[in-house]
Amino acid sequence: MPLIRFEMADSTERTQIGEGIVRFAAQAGRLETGREEGKYFLQHADGCGEDGTRIGPGDAFFFDTETGDILCAAHGEERSEEA
Ligand SMILES: [Zn+2]
Repeated sequence: MPLIRFEMADSTERTQIGEGIVRFAAQAGRLETGREEGKYFLQHADGCGEDGTRIGPGDAFFFDTETGDILCAAHGEERSEEA
């Protein structure tokens, strides 16, 4: 599963993730741990890798586990259709 879709971002900066994704987040340099509200988080404050769109709370977004990119919903769907 190279491209993972998240239905709702927790915040602009980060979203809590499950253990299955931790390895990919770490590879991408996006893993954050040690917060009070959860164990593992994916950092995405830099926004979409294609156009820089910031991911807002409640937004759907994508995480490309091969490139480490975060993608907004539109670009994520585009990339998943290419694959
Ligand atoms: Zn985008």
